[in-house]
Amino acid sequence: MAFNKVEHIGIAVKDLDAANEVYTQLLGVAPYKQELVESEHVMTSFFQVGETKIELLAATAPESAIARFIEKRGEGIHHTAYGVDDIEAAMREAEEKGFRLLNEKPKRGADNMLVCFIHPKSCNGVLVELCQKIPDNADKADVQLTISNDNAIIEK
Ligand code: ZN
Repeated sequence: MAFNKVEHIGIAVKDLDAANEVYTQLLGVAPYKQELVESEHVMTSFFQVGETKIELLAATAPESAIARFIEKRGEGIHHTAYGVDDIEAAMREAEEKGFRLLNEKPKRGADNMLVCFIHPKSCNGVLVELCQKIPDNADKADVQLTISNDNAIIEK
């Protein structure tokens, strides 16, 4: 199954307000949403750039994967995210091809997405996120059933 687009690029930042200003200047557009992903201790900020997005990520707690990433590697590109039509099928296929998945079931990510991460060691050092948009009219209760409750933090 081919991915349908580069859904977004995630950038780890230290100071979200400062980074919002930088990226608003750079992209010529303000973020369309900020969203807390409580399970990951991350505050996100999204910019629309054509068909794709830039996602800024800032840690809200020292145990956040983003805090550890910045400690180790500094600010910078944290992951690339690809859109898929059927995340469970895409996960099975990736696993069959030998890619190491970081979560066994799709998780609810920011911006109304079901997400799964692939280990950076499988992808030349880049953390890869697969994401499937949750339809706006989806019965949320239904969707929730397919999502893992364990929101394990993404380990490097
Ligand atoms: Zn992302």
